[in-house]
Amino acid sequence: MDRDRIVALDKQRVWHPYTPMDRYRAEVDPIVVESASGASLFDRDGSELIDANSSWWVASLGHNHPRLVAALKAQADRNCHSALAGMTHEPAAELAERICAVAPEGLDHVFYSDDGSTAVEVGLKLALQYWAQNGRPARKHFVALQGAFHGETLGVTSIGGVDVFRAPFQGAVLENWFVPTPTQAGGLEPAVKALRAVLEAESDRLAAVVVEPVVQGASGMQMYDPAYLREARALCDAHDVFLIVDEVFTGYGRSGPMWASEHAGIRPDVLCTAKGFCGGMLPMAATLSTARIFDGFLGDPDRAFYYGHSFCGNPLGAAVALEVLRIYEEERILEQAKPKAERIAAAFEALGELPGVARWRARGMIGALDLAGDDGYLAQAGWRVYDEARARGAYLRPMGNVVYVTPPLNIEDAVLDRLLDIVRDSIETVTR
Ligand SMILES: *Cc1c(COP(=O)(O)O)cnc(C)c1O
Repeated sequence: MDRDRIVALDKQRVWHPYTPMDRYRAEVDPIVVESASGASLFDRDGSELIDANSSWWVASLGHNHPRLVAALKAQADRNCHSALAGMTHEPAAELAERICAVAPEGLDHVFYSDDGSTAVEVGLKLALQYWAQNGRPARKHFVALQGAFHGETLGVTSIGGVDVFRAPFQGAVLENWFVPTPTQAGGLEPAVKALRAVLEAESDRLAAVVVEPVVQGASGMQMYDPAYLREARALCDAHDVFLIVDEVFTGYGRSGPMWASEHAGIRPDVLCTAKGFCGGMLPMAATLSTARIFDGFLGDPDRAFYYGHSFCGNPLGAAVALEVLRIYEEERILEQAKPKAERIAAAFEALGELPGVARWRARGMIGALDLAGDDGYLAQAGWRVYDEARARGAYLRPMGNVVYVTPPLNIEDAVLDRLLDIVRDSIETVTR
């Protein structure tokens, strides 16, 4: 099929995510990905684009890592799928053992699902059902952070604090409490105070506090002081409310250590992982929980967690996820990424000096800045930077006026430097 035909069929039939489709059909010349490897996407037309956001933050080891492709093929030859219903298989069992070994202490049980949204959905349902059958049935609500993003199902939309994603479902989603993030005016102190106030007033009705630890990705790579997590942990302990950390984006070294929770040294009750968990290759996720929560589902059969997806524990995903952990260990991915993270931070600090840039921030393999001018998710300046970057060989999808990079942790230094140069040139051109 030639490139034009692919685009024509796409525009006729495919409904794209997060996309005003009329504008897409009229104005957008989509990248037609023919192949992908390392940090790059290759268009049908032969051009190469550095994938600055690792395809929506998933390809932490780059595209088509040869070891992951080999693991996928080997597993495909044995068993592509069998359900975890009265059955199991080696990849699911070994992966559970390994992920618990690298997770924060105390997380001893693994529930598999399909993506980040379902990983968090499982966390919410575990908390609700735990309290329902362990003496606190009134605990039916959650506390989340303003600007939070936890995915797309209705359950997690109800703890989502990004207005543009939540507004269409107002009234249909569960009502919860939102507290200020420590990134907002005043920082740590007022945020802790607000959380303490909700917990003191409402703990009888609260199942859990849910946070994106240290970095709120979808609200524009907003970063906050890890001390907040220690305060949240202490407050949750004091009121015996669960702390659920959504490490879907921050996990697997995206923010530096394996888990962003490690910045604060906290032990969550539930940890949700996806995206990097499967090397960005397959939709596969996991929700880890403590023995206390697991044990709260034992006893009568009607206390069991009656929840599961068709592809729960999918062998292909599990085999790839296992290989991801082996690569992290054998290739010392987190250590290798440290000097790259420093390069990103230095580059964004320098970008912060540009007249068109209002604010910059960096942590781990994340660099972000706000373009000066109009605010919000639907702002347009970021898209002008996107166009400039694309012409220069990078896919630099913005979030409103936030321009950011989240490249693979193992991106080659020369490619990273090229990407950072493109970011600079593109911003300079747009804001000149
Ligand atoms: C992306 C993301 C999700 C949702 O993951 P999907 O795989 O897109 O469903 C949930 N939480 C956080 C923090 C995310 O960044």
